[in-house]
Amino acid sequence: MQPARILISTSSSTRSSSLKRMDAIGGMNYAEAINQVGGLPFFAPNLSAEKAAAYIAQVDGLLLSGGVDFDPVLFNEAPHPGLGMVDEARDNFELACYHAARKKGIPILGICRGIQAINVAEGGSLIQHLPAFEDKHQHAQQNNDGSLFHTVVLEPDSKLAGAFGKTSIRTNSYHHQAIDRLGSNLKSVAKTADNTIEAVESSDGKVLGVQWHPEMSFERYPEQIAPFRLFMEAVQQYLNERIPGQVYA
Ligand code: MN
Repeated sequence: MQPARILISTSSSTRSSSLKRMDAIGGMNYAEAINQVGGLPFFAPNLSAEKAAAYIAQVDGLLLSGGVDFDPVLFNEAPHPGLGMVDEARDNFELACYHAARKKGIPILGICRGIQAINVAEGGSLIQHLPAFEDKHQHAQQNNDGSLFHTVVLEPDSKLAGAFGKTSIRTNSYHHQAIDRLGSNLKSVAKTADNTIEAVESSDGKVLGVQWHPEMSFERYPEQIAPFRLFMEAVQQYLNERIPGQVYA
């Protein structure tokens, strides 16, 4: 049996200030988490939106990874003074990957920027500069090692609560933006005490987004593999339904 093929989106960055040389940077933590749950990770460079469907045709699942801010032009807002770096090529490529993946019917896991990508793709909007609302609650912890930081309360009937086996968990928090107006086909399934949306699911069970970084925490806190297990279960279900009668262990 071939392991399920999971496409992971990447960041684009210049290697130095003197050479105009771009790197596609894939996160090793994401690859390790996908590997841990039996998937085979591939990294995709942010090529044209036209190439997105060709990439999606080759894989069984899509992981939208963390990264820079989303350009608010994508949800019809002017840039807030606190908006950070944006990446037009990545925005366009990831949104095209999302729509191609939905058309094909493969599961999608969004992490941090990835949950924001899901929400923008579904027509929702983002809080562009979360610190502007943070007088009592922080979402940008200083420890950079994935240690647990804030409490997240899960909706009791969500798949995510089922995967964790409880409705209150602690997670890390490294985000600058967050979901504002929720997109179509999505339900909020997790919030912090300040009402920030920390996870979404689609009604068909194929889309899961989390605002924290479980891939940075699962080695120290094994329960944090839960979002990846849930995602991979959906991928296996897709594979089983695609080829009737064939069993994937
Ligand atoms: Mn948070």
